[in-house]
Amino acid sequence: MFRKMRRSAQELGREVCEEILSRGTSGVLAVLGDEGYPYAVPLSYVFADGKLYFHCARQGHKLDAVRACDKVSFCVVDKDDVVPEEYTTYFRSVIVFGRARVLEDAAEIRAALERLGRRYHPSDSPEGLAHAIDRELAAVAVIELTPEHITGKEARELMKRRKEGDKE
Ligand SMILES: Cc1cc2nc3c(=O)[nH]c(=O)nc-3n(C[C@H](O)[C@H](O)[C@H](O)COP(=O)(O)OP(=O)(O)OC[C@H]3O[C@@H](n4cnc5c(N)ncnc54)[C@H](O)[C@@H]3O)c2cc1C
Repeated sequence: MFRKMRRSAQELGREVCEEILSRGTSGVLAVLGDEGYPYAVPLSYVFADGKLYFHCARQGHKLDAVRACDKVSFCVVDKDDVVPEEYTTYFRSVIVFGRARVLEDAAEIRAALERLGRRYHPSDSPEGLAHAIDRELAAVAVIELTPEHITGKEARELMKRRKEGDKE
């Protein structure tokens, strides 16, 4: 059902895609918004155990959209270096298609917030993190994205360098 990449020579393997998702800190979540308009909204996230987690307010456009239709995609741009003399950019990105779920279970919500907290404040103590979560818990919703299809693509030049053994 999901499309094949036309320029398959530029396609990244699963492992590289997961590395990009792990090091990224934000991406753009695309949902089916109001009146058929796609709604693409930038969000921070954490990638853990093969899933992506987002936290947000308990109301709003994206939450309404996800509740109405769980099919979403999420794009992370890993690299975007402008190369003026070539009229191009050396890019690298990942797109995840999958199903989004607004977590309702308190233990699941806390576990996801702990993952987010550890990702964004790794030096905080467990007590500090627990305190921060307790403070925000009543105001926060968590969306879990279970990937169904992950693709990654990079500029030809980056692909060439990778094959030569230089990862950047
Ligand atoms: C890099 C980055 C990381 C972010 N991380 C998070 C995060 O982890 N959690 C979180 O909740 N929010 C985050 N935000 C803010 C996020 O993009 C949304 O503004 C926020 O989540 C509210 O979304 P909503 O659909 O509930 O907004 P609503 O206020 O319900 O949206 C109503 C309308 O406001 C407009 N709008 C909403 N957000 C934006 C926006 N960012 N830019 C332009 N127009 C907008 C749209 O037209 C939308 O239809 C981040 C933003 C950036 C740029």
